[in-house]
Amino acid sequence: MIYLKTAEEIELMRHAAQIVSKTLGLIASEIKEGVSLKHLDKIAEEFIRDNGGVPVFKGYNGFPASLCLSMNEEVVHGIPSDRIITSGDILSVDCGIKKQGFVGDHAYTFCAGEIKKEVQDLVRVTKESLYVGIEQVKSGNRIGDVSYAIQQYAEKHGYGVVRELVGHGLGKNLHEKPEVPNYGKRGSGAKIQNGLTIAIEPMINMGTKDIKQLNDGWTIITKDKKPSAHFEHDVAVVNGKADILSTFSYAEEAMKKNSFLVKI
Ligand code: MG
Ligand code: MG
Repeated sequence: MIYLKTAEEIELMRHAAQIVSKTLGLIASEIKEGVSLKHLDKIAEEFIRDNGGVPVFKGYNGFPASLCLSMNEEVVHGIPSDRIITSGDILSVDCGIKKQGFVGDHAYTFCAGEIKKEVQDLVRVTKESLYVGIEQVKSGNRIGDVSYAIQQYAEKHGYGVVRELVGHGLGKNLHEKPEVPNYGKRGSGAKIQNGLTIAIEPMINMGTKDIKQLNDGWTIITKDKKPSAHFEHDVAVVNGKADILSTFSYAEEAMKKNSFLVKI
C-alpha cells in the first residue's frame, strides 16, 4: 500500500532531507587527494548524530556503514573502506538518515581531480536525467512517466540504464511503495497524487546496463567495469506538483571552495 503523507509529515521529511543535504555538503568539503572512504563515513556519522539524526543505512540488512560510497565502476552500495581517493575518480555518496520518525535519502556523484571528458559527460547526463524525471512528477501522471523520461534521456546519450535497482517510496521507512524504476512505459504504474513521497535515483552506466554484485555481498559494479553515476533526490507531491525536499546546494557551495572537485 502507498502511504500518502500529510503536510506536517512532509515538513518532517524535509527536515530529515536537509540533514542529508548538509551531510553531502560536509563530504564535499572533505574530499581531497589521499582521503580514505572510511574517513568520509566517520565524519558523516558524527555529523548526522550531532544533528539529532540516526544513519539509517548502518545496520540495514547488516550494512556496516553510514554512507554508501561507490567509486568509478561501482554503481551503488559500496562499503566505505581504506581505499583512498585519487585524481580521476568519481564517487557516488549516498546518505540516509532518520529523524523525528522520518527518513531522508539522497545521493550525489562527485568528480575528483582530472576527469576524462567522457566521464564528465556521464555524470552530467545522469544528473540531468534526475531532473528530467522530476519534471514528470505531477498530478495526472503515473510513476511510469517518470521512469520513461529518465530512460529515454539516458539512452539517447547511449548509456545503459540499470534495471535491477530502482528508486522508491520514502517516509517512515527507507523503502516504501511504490518502486520508481529508471526505465518503463508511459502511463504505467502508481498514480502521482498529493502526499506521495518518493526517492528518484537514476543509476546510469557509461556502457552496458548489466551489473553484478561483488563477493562482499553489497557492492554493485558494472559488468563491463565502465564507470557509473548516481544522483538521488527526495520529492513530495504538493498542490499537484513536485516539491524537492532535498537540495544539492550545500554540496555545490562546498565544491566551489574545494579545488580538488570539478563542478559538472
Ligand atoms: Mg534511495
Ligand atoms: Mg540513497
